[in-house]
Amino acid sequence: MAIQRFNAVEAAQSRKPKIVEELNKRSELFGENVFNENTMRQYLTSDAFKGVMSAIDLGKKIDRKIADQVSSAMKEWAMSKGVTHYTHWFQPLTGGTAEKHDAFFETIGSGMAFEKFGGHQLVQQEPDASSFPHGGIRNTFEARGYTAWDPTSPAFIFGTTLCIPTIFVSYTGEALDYKTPLLRALQAVDGAATAICKYFDKNVKKVSSSLGWEQEYFLVDKALANSRPDLALTGRTLLGHSPAKGQQLDDHYFGAIPSRALNFMRELETECMLLGIPVKTRHNEVAPNQFELAPIFEEANLAVDHNSLLMDLMGRVASKHNFKVLLHEKPFAGVNGSGKHNNWSLTTDSGVNLLGPGKTPMSNLQFLTFFINTIKAVHDNEELLRAVTASASNDHRLGANEAPPAIISVFIGEQLTKVLEELEGVTDGKLSPEEKTDLKLNVVGKIPDVLLDNTDRNRTSAFAFTGNKFEFRAIGSTANCAKPMTVLNTIVAKQLKDFKIEVDKLIDRKDLKKDEAIFNVLREYIKSSRNILFEGNGYGAEWEKEAKKRGLSNHKTTPEAIKVKISDKVLSLYEEMGVMSKVETSARYEIEVEEYTKRIQIESRVLGDIAGNHVVPTAVLYQNMLIENVSGLKNIFGTNFEEHAKEQIRLIKRISEHIEGVHCKIDKMINARKKANKIENHEEKAMAYCSKVKPFLDEIRYHCDKLELMVDDKLWPLTKYRELLFIR
Ligand code: ADP
Ligand code: MG
Repeated sequence: MAIQRFNAVEAAQSRKPKIVEELNKRSELFGENVFNENTMRQYLTSDAFKGVMSAIDLGKKIDRKIADQVSSAMKEWAMSKGVTHYTHWFQPLTGGTAEKHDAFFETIGSGMAFEKFGGHQLVQQEPDASSFPHGGIRNTFEARGYTAWDPTSPAFIFGTTLCIPTIFVSYTGEALDYKTPLLRALQAVDGAATAICKYFDKNVKKVSSSLGWEQEYFLVDKALANSRPDLALTGRTLLGHSPAKGQQLDDHYFGAIPSRALNFMRELETECMLLGIPVKTRHNEVAPNQFELAPIFEEANLAVDHNSLLMDLMGRVASKHNFKVLLHEKPFAGVNGSGKHNNWSLTTDSGVNLLGPGKTPMSNLQFLTFFINTIKAVHDNEELLRAVTASASNDHRLGANEAPPAIISVFIGEQLTKVLEELEGVTDGKLSPEEKTDLKLNVVGKIPDVLLDNTDRNRTSAFAFTGNKFEFRAIGSTANCAKPMTVLNTIVAKQLKDFKIEVDKLIDRKDLKKDEAIFNVLREYIKSSRNILFEGNGYGAEWEKEAKKRGLSNHKTTPEAIKVKISDKVLSLYEEMGVMSKVETSARYEIEVEEYTKRIQIESRVLGDIAGNHVVPTAVLYQNMLIENVSGLKNIFGTNFEEHAKEQIRLIKRISEHIEGVHCKIDKMINARKKANKIENHEEKAMAYCSKVKPFLDEIRYHCDKLELMVDDKLWPLTKYRELLFIR
């Protein structure tokens, strides 16, 4: 095994970068492999083009004849680019993407065949999907699910396959994927936000939600990564002593990108251009071998698809450069983990960013309306927002002084804090003309066009306003962005819906003018959601105490955090907003609970194997060498030998203690697992894995890492942190 480690190190050290040229003009390649508006104009009849566009813009249904035309145009376009297969491309609840390739090939009796892709194949498929997670929705006797074309996300070519983004639902119509509820949430926020916009501009017809994600990841040489069974099986290192040098010197962040990594990025970004993923920013992140990639923001559904596609693409491109991409939230202890900030805003069909301050008092009032409603939505649903970030892997990150804590709070900066304070003083009921003028001129009118607050750079807030968008920062690097986007858009939709009811009530019953009513309701919202606002250091212990006083939740583990997903409040919220039925929400909860258990179970088994079968035998081997040395010394020095063998004997004893520690804790861990496995109730089982099994992972690791420091480096079988993190 030690040989494998050294072979891997040698292979990694002798690699030459695979040189990739930087794209001169990205724009020329952009969307080349996408059946986008431009391509559709070329390949579709004008009827078909109009049909698809009205499906995209207005959500109209596409009729069969048009679907036939679209599919045959898609096939023609794809085949002209060497494509041979098609697939419905969807995002099941495994978190990854799914595809099943079918050839454009049909037989027509008498031994003849031709290439075909019909409308019905584009619109709907029935994959035998019995092995996808469904949380009990799909009965075994009705194991079929179906995928249905989502025309709002364009088809694209990946390799030699035409990929058609689809939703995935059970035969009884329940969502079995991430896209379906997201589309429903986007529809809900569109409806609710458009109604509010009409207070300010009668012409607004549609509001869409935008998402700009920032993807963090690690790159590790493929040979080194493959030499670690824990990385291969769990995505993270379950043991390994921190290297003498980690990120203390802050010398990686924004530093010169290492050559092999840069070539990987160039190839990845070229592929992204072909697929229409508008990536723009790349840089080194805080930890050694950690990087980030960010696109220009897009409509949320498209941005979600693009992020899923990107995660897939990264793995494939990395392989060509002899890298393995680690998307896990915490692949290495002791250095920063990876997150995925979700930058979010709402935009009207006339191009107004509703979370960007305007130029006139009225447009600023509109901004404040959306701004304050978002804060209120976060305040009222902080537990749900926390829940949506929870996973076994993200548990290592949240609250670990590198990512936002497990407490959700909103940062808005000094300037806007002052504005809210002033609005809190608005008179109850009708406003005097002087007060109105004062508000418009001195409060609302004084919001500057550019709202950049430097204090935001402390980065400790889970949900920060960053000038013209909110940035949800607690999300893990492996997450499917549809999850946070579904929650965020749903809670904001619900909040805007309630806001409208309250404003209209004041207008009707109290005879208030529209702006007076808006000021009145916003004032109450500011008061009632004050507790969620926090400008200080989110990493501090003080904040935990303060947050507790304020009644904010602070769930540190996944099983605790996700419970709220099946609370009456959340079940009703999703149902009211038409996002998920109670059955769908409960099914998802069940899937997550089980997934948590499985992940900890796998980690525990893998660590048991590595510690018992790799670490301990190596420690014994080295200890035998020491024993031999001691008995040799005894031969030479006789009874005086202890004087010369003092340190060796001490080491022999310490090794024995740690070997005993490993064995005894593995036994205890196995017992805890056995007990947990007997528990029938899924929730209790996950809790048992969390509180009874998981702690042994750290305890066993402690002994292994100590042994790593004692045993001769030449014998140590597992590729060390310094090798994983610094060979590039
Ligand atoms: P930082 O690392 O400082 O947070 P980046 O420039 O890396 O900033 O990322 C900002 C992200 O926010 C980008 O993906 C960008 O496209 C996105 N973004 C900018 N404006 C909006 C907006 N109005 N709505 C959604 N996302 C936005
Ligand atoms: Mg950011």
